[in-house]
Amino acid sequence: MRIPIVAGNWKMNKTVIQALDLVSKLKDACEGLQGVQVVVCPPFTALQPVSQILSASSIRLGAQDLYWEARGAFTGEISAEMIKDVGCDFVILGHSERRGYFHEGNLEVSRKIAAAQSQGLIPIVCVGETLREREENRTFSVIEEQVRGCLSSWVPSQKESLVIAYEPVWAIGTGRNATPDQANEAHTFIRQLLRDLFGEEASARMHILYGGSVNPKNIEALAAQPELDGALVGGASLDAESFAQIVRSSMKSPHGS
Ligand code: PEP
Repeated sequence: MRIPIVAGNWKMNKTVIQALDLVSKLKDACEGLQGVQVVVCPPFTALQPVSQILSASSIRLGAQDLYWEARGAFTGEISAEMIKDVGCDFVILGHSERRGYFHEGNLEVSRKIAAAQSQGLIPIVCVGETLREREENRTFSVIEEQVRGCLSSWVPSQKESLVIAYEPVWAIGTGRNATPDQANEAHTFIRQLLRDLFGEEASARMHILYGGSVNPKNIEALAAQPELDGALVGGASLDAESFAQIVRSSMKSPHGS
């Protein structure tokens, strides 16, 4: 059974004071909600203080990236152990902004996934096509290449799981979300791919989230799709009331096998 996950990607927003204000409001709005797992992913500088506020909460913490080496002379980088140490359970990897602005490819993402798994962190692995790729009918081949490339290091185990976020690049931060049908079609394809790669049992433990201009108005129709296991939310996660509304609308009877 997969309980929906709703994760907020705060990106490069919020000072520590602002992060604490947002997460305190979220705690009040989301505490006690059943049937949904809420995750917040603040910037690195706010992880430790937010972690303290969340210590007795059901809301879980995630980072927005990590570096695959364990330690050493890698100025500016943060390891999986450091992220775990400040209380993270999740880490977003392979976000299209990292692929686009920082030239990350599937090989780098697969190394980061291996590092995350070595520390028991749950990777939220982002995949998705650009508008041009969709228009050229390459959506599924791009997704397949990304999923196979990124997950080449993943070792299925009973203990750890993995989350895929289908995030069409043309829908991120644009106000133009994928239609529920488009999202469901891509998720169905990814689910089959996960079955082929890892077998029925291991793939059934993996969540597939939708991300790209999710807001309180469109979430209900998206969440109603059978193959959606929740959402990765950018802009709308920066406001406590919007995010809480998305969380509430994502609650549904757990599905999946
Ligand atoms: C994201 O960056 O992961 C994202 C989904 O952003 P937005 O919701 O703002 O489109």
